[in-house]
Amino acid sequence: MRNRWTRRSLVVLVLTFFIVVFVDFQLRTSSFTKSSVAHRPSAGARHGSIGQVPSAHSSAHNSSSSINGGGGESKLSENNGGESVAERVHATQPKLRLDDIYVAVKTTARFHKTRLALLLDTWISRTKAHTFIFTDKEDEELSSKGYNMVVTGCQSDHSQQALSCKMSVEYDGFMASNKRWFCHVDDDNYVNPEGLLSLLSTFPQEGDIYVGKPSLDKPITAHELLDGNKTVNVRFWFATGGAGFCLSRRLAEKMSPWASGPHFERTSARIRLPDDCTVGFIVEKMLGVAMVHCPLFHSHLENLLLISQRSLPQQVTLSYGMFENKMNSIEVKGSFSKEEDPSRFKTVHCILYPATSWCPPVT
Ligand code: UDP
Ligand code: MN
Repeated sequence: MRNRWTRRSLVVLVLTFFIVVFVDFQLRTSSFTKSSVAHRPSAGARHGSIGQVPSAHSSAHNSSSSINGGGGESKLSENNGGESVAERVHATQPKLRLDDIYVAVKTTARFHKTRLALLLDTWISRTKAHTFIFTDKEDEELSSKGYNMVVTGCQSDHSQQALSCKMSVEYDGFMASNKRWFCHVDDDNYVNPEGLLSLLSTFPQEGDIYVGKPSLDKPITAHELLDGNKTVNVRFWFATGGAGFCLSRRLAEKMSPWASGPHFERTSARIRLPDDCTVGFIVEKMLGVAMVHCPLFHSHLENLLLISQRSLPQQVTLSYGMFENKMNSIEVKGSFSKEEDPSRFKTVHCILYPATSWCPPVT
């Protein structure tokens, strides 16, 4: 009797043991499948670089390519094939926020109280925490107000070397940050923060993106210096620094062998062209990535009267400057007269942000 009881208990024990082992095995295999699925999107993200430009941008590109002679077309149309991949990449990335964008402003000490002050009062008041001001002299007043001032140690003139030196410090500053996009502007640019965010949000966030506007209607030709004092002609598009341009982090990382530390100035010297051309050279010639031509960036090398007031919310950058002894600026009606606000930046700012303390109340 006792023996039978012991045998039965043994059978129950062995059975329970097998059930526990079976359930454990089931649980392990199901969690393995889940984790391998969870990792799969990174493979998609890698392929995402093929689909660099979403359709929204091929249209931006196409509209400017008719002005620009259609350069860079082939690569961009190839990119459209990757749209579904791009969409998948979109889905895996958190939504882009304004403070994910590193905005680098190039200035010089003698413009702190004039050009820069206007930017601080207007658009930088909305982007202060992630805007970095690259200059050549300490400014206690501005640092004490909490602006991110970077004193570059570069020469303060307008030479190719000085400008490339500043751009290389801007690039290194971005690389050391945790931001997702790098945008460069000059101190005579107005940045429309919402326009910039909308534009960059339309790109696959893991793509290789270089976006801006050329100042020329065809690719520039550089004479690249080779060993033994030989030169070779190279043609590429570049986004004019005076209109501002942006680079995605993934592309900026790939640029490192030609752009980080002392490399940027060396690359600039190799083609004997300024900073903005050097960026174009690295992206298009060294990396084979086509620039995205976007008509929403504006420098004072173009006729700014052509920008309509209605389109302001979509524009990404504006500029102002003298052209043939006349002020070239955007034509807007609003809070300030042309005498009070020759650049029109204050008026633009009050149109975009009417609740700003110093904007006259809207009647
Ligand atoms: N700049 C500079 N040092 C100078 C002159 C200009 O760093 O001696 C900067 C200036 O702050 C601006 C950019 O270079 O951000 C372009 O300068 P500017 O608008 O005067 O000339 P542009 O190249 O547009 O004709
Ligand atoms: Mn300028």
